[in-house]
Amino acid sequence: MASDHVDVLIVGAGLSGVGAACHLRRNCPDKTYAVLEARGAIGGTWDLFRYPGIRSDSDMFTLGYSFKPWTDPKAIADGDSIRRYVRETAREYGVEEHIRFHHRVVRAEWDSASARWTVHAHRDDTGEDVVLTCAFLFTCSGYYRYDAGYTPDFPGAERFTGELVHPQHWPEDLDHTGKRVVVIGSGATAVTLVPAMAERAGHVTMLQRSPTYVIALPSRDAVADALRRWLPAKAAYPVVRWKNVLLGTANFQLSRRAPKLVRSLLLRAARGRLPAGYDVDRHFSPRYDPWDQRLCVVPDGDLFDAVRAGRASVVTDTVDTFTERGVRLGSGEELPADVVVTATGLNLLALGGMTLAVDGVDVDLARTVAYKGMMLSGVPNFAMTIGYTNASWTLKADLVATYTCRLLRHLDATGQQLVTPVAPRSGQLEPLIDLKSGYVLRSVDTLPRQGGRAPWRLYQNYARDVLLMKRGRLVDEGIRFSGPPRPPVPAPPEPRSPDRGSTTRTAEGEHRAQVRLPRRDRRGHRRRQRDR
Ligand SMILES: Cc1cc2nc3c(=O)[nH]c(=O)nc-3n(C[C@H](O)[C@H](O)[C@H](O)COP(=O)(O)OP(=O)(O)OC[C@H]3O[C@@H](n4cnc5c(N)ncnc54)[C@H](O)[C@@H]3O)c2cc1C
Repeated sequence: MASDHVDVLIVGAGLSGVGAACHLRRNCPDKTYAVLEARGAIGGTWDLFRYPGIRSDSDMFTLGYSFKPWTDPKAIADGDSIRRYVRETAREYGVEEHIRFHHRVVRAEWDSASARWTVHAHRDDTGEDVVLTCAFLFTCSGYYRYDAGYTPDFPGAERFTGELVHPQHWPEDLDHTGKRVVVIGSGATAVTLVPAMAERAGHVTMLQRSPTYVIALPSRDAVADALRRWLPAKAAYPVVRWKNVLLGTANFQLSRRAPKLVRSLLLRAARGRLPAGYDVDRHFSPRYDPWDQRLCVVPDGDLFDAVRAGRASVVTDTVDTFTERGVRLGSGEELPADVVVTATGLNLLALGGMTLAVDGVDVDLARTVAYKGMMLSGVPNFAMTIGYTNASWTLKADLVATYTCRLLRHLDATGQQLVTPVAPRSGQLEPLIDLKSGYVLRSVDTLPRQGGRAPWRLYQNYARDVLLMKRGRLVDEGIRFSGPPRPPVPAPPEPRSPDRGSTTRTAEGEHRAQVRLPRRDRRGHRRRQRDR
């Protein structure tokens, strides 16, 4: 069993974990760190997903890191380019040599007396169990299960004689040239797959139970192209980034305030790209308001083009059963298929499946309250990265890493060792993720919650978060700085005294060791507490 200690332990070497390591290198160069990565490669999502056409649906000026300009001509980029960008960043900042691959973190235990996490990882390649300790644990483990995507139980699926695949586990040798393909789903993955597969397939049918808002955006950013002609990349990048942040925020706010208007604009735009007489109301008009679920972006309208060209079609119906030859629908119609792709989503997973314990008590995530969307009440020296649901993930990931560095520097500057969020004393608690998508609703009860106001509320607003996390105060009612830990107080001398102390969880979710001290020591203890 190997053992090791670092100042900061990062879990995950995806976009966020690599970004977190770079932020540490830039802002806390004295801190030692390691990155534990369950897989054998850098890149997370952008390494795992290999289905045809895999690409971002956010622009790369906001999905890219704040500190590394995105210089590729395409604003909406393919998976390979994003993977290359993450790897290049890791190389530039010397992150690669800090990554320990094939280390799946399974449990982390905090001990207040030593102000340390003990982190247990399992090596999938050697079968070895590894233990590391760290002063600060920073999870960047994404938000879904890597081993299995979500597939509903489709009746008769075992009878189907064609190929049945999930986009998360794409077979390298799958050749769909000339074949009849049915893609089940209507989310970002389905709208990406349909036009990409339609380039070679005989025909692709997108089979959806209900429609999603689909919006066509240019794959290149005209403002970025123009600026980059005159300015160096380093100067053009933040301008385009902020332009896209502000446009995205305006779009989201307008959708929230005038959903009917935004809905009619989206449907009108779709109608304009589809053949005359196309049933837009049936296939592109969702039952919910814009941004109750993420909008699906199609670069340069490629999905609409494929439908107009007759290479792809959309069917809005339910799956009654699979047959040997395809899928029979609720309406009785049968869709013949050689390949069926179940683009039916992800299984949400908090903290990459690891469990947490604080001073010997297991942490029930559903009973914690998120602080600034990045720490958990009652859990000391811990941060987690969860990106925005209404904007690019990296905008928030960058802020979480920046804020974590600020916390670490504050601890050093004040000679303290512990930073622990506390839950709000009153007020309604709500789910942390406010989307109504199926994959969120399936798991929302297992996730931390958020409070009704700052610093416990997620406003999903980048400009506001910049003020709060880059410039805002570190000390507020939601957080407690403390330490260094005191040596254990000796028990009272009477050998028969049974009262040797107990551990309780307070209303704020923090753990406090209650030890009965001799009266003289109690007075001193109270004074020390006041002085903190
Ligand atoms: C197909 C697809 C397209 C997407 N497109 C966009 C988009 O256009 N814009 C956008 O903003 N977001 C998008 N997202 C969300 C996307 O996940 C984020 O953009 C971003 O990639 C998340 O980065 P991450 O590093 O936080 O998580 P991930 O990319 O999920 O990486 C997490 C890493 O942590 C590792 N890990 C997990 N658990 C453990 C553990 N217990 N121990 C050790 N290592 C662990 C994983 O192996 C992985 O390498 C998309 C998601 C998917 C699935």
